[in-house]
Amino acid sequence: MTEHWENLEALCAPLLDWYDAHRRILPWREAPTPYRTWVSEIMLQQTRVSAVLPYYARFMAELPDANALAAVSEERLFKLWEGLGYYSRARNLHRAAQVIADTYGGALPRTMDELRALPGIGDYTASAIASINYGAPEPAVDGNLLRVTARLCGCADDVTDARVKKRFRVRLADAIDRARPGAWNQAMMDLGATVCLPNGAPLCADCPARAFCTAYREGLTDALPVRAAKKPRRAEERTVFLLLRGDKLAVRRRPDTGLLAKLIEFPNVTGNLDEASAAVALAQMGVRASNLTACGTAKHIFTHLEWQMKGFIATVADAGNGLRWVDAAELETLAIPSAFHFFTAKARQLLNNKNGE
Ligand code: SF4
Repeated sequence: MTEHWENLEALCAPLLDWYDAHRRILPWREAPTPYRTWVSEIMLQQTRVSAVLPYYARFMAELPDANALAAVSEERLFKLWEGLGYYSRARNLHRAAQVIADTYGGALPRTMDELRALPGIGDYTASAIASINYGAPEPAVDGNLLRVTARLCGCADDVTDARVKKRFRVRLADAIDRARPGAWNQAMMDLGATVCLPNGAPLCADCPARAFCTAYREGLTDALPVRAAKKPRRAEERTVFLLLRGDKLAVRRRPDTGLLAKLIEFPNVTGNLDEASAAVALAQMGVRASNLTACGTAKHIFTHLEWQMKGFIATVADAGNGLRWVDAAELETLAIPSAFHFFTAKARQLLNNKNGE
């Protein structure tokens, strides 16, 4: 297949015309600021626009600038983030806001190097902030841009390969509109999100590139982009405990690093335990269970990992090691990750039943 990189330049003017007529109206695009672009782009990672919209509105109402974000407690931030998942994004936003408050007086820095030095900001987010707010000709290369570019130019290289991404970035940096780099990036994002759709389903009839797109002309829209097969997800069995002590239930804080770091969870251990082994695991947590009842199973899928969970409810007398005991009202203030969704619902039910006794 011959690659046609000149198509990127040919797309520039029709793309911007198309964008002016069809662009998505999104709250972070109206009166953009570096802070709004930054928060929206972080929220949009791995998350659909429709899911982000209510979170973004709530977040901006409570934390309208980097100084407010720097000052908020981690517990409150996690509560605002609850349900969006990938909590490392929230932790990085918080850390970066503290650097912005301490080092830059609360205003996001302007250069790509300074932006990229902030926690959680890589090439893509730095380029989005710099192009949309500072007029810098930096292409924001994400899955959308890679897909559109591979199809438009007929490139069959593996777009998950870092070297290929780098090459695409150089080509896109040449092609970006110098007068309207922010609009160009957002136009490419919109084209990828609404027209040049993934999984062989692009709406080429509506595309401003149709007259010269290589994949369309050569019938290769199903074959492009090429992506190396993903590694299969690792499965991990876990046993989760809902421990009742009077009208309170046990939660604990996860370790400072690793998966779901610092978040609140129900006590749990690795393995698909039977009652006898569950009692031993509880003894290691410093609690003796007077009765153990199975309370169902649940599954949660992370990017590279799948948790297969089973649960037990137990009544206990001891306070245990490292456990925090919360009542029904306090449970509602905690940001418990959606991985535990099934058990959070059970916990709520148990505590509400206790209140009704
Ligand atoms: S013509 Fe079709 S394949 Fe080519 S860029 Fe447009 S939507 Fe994508």
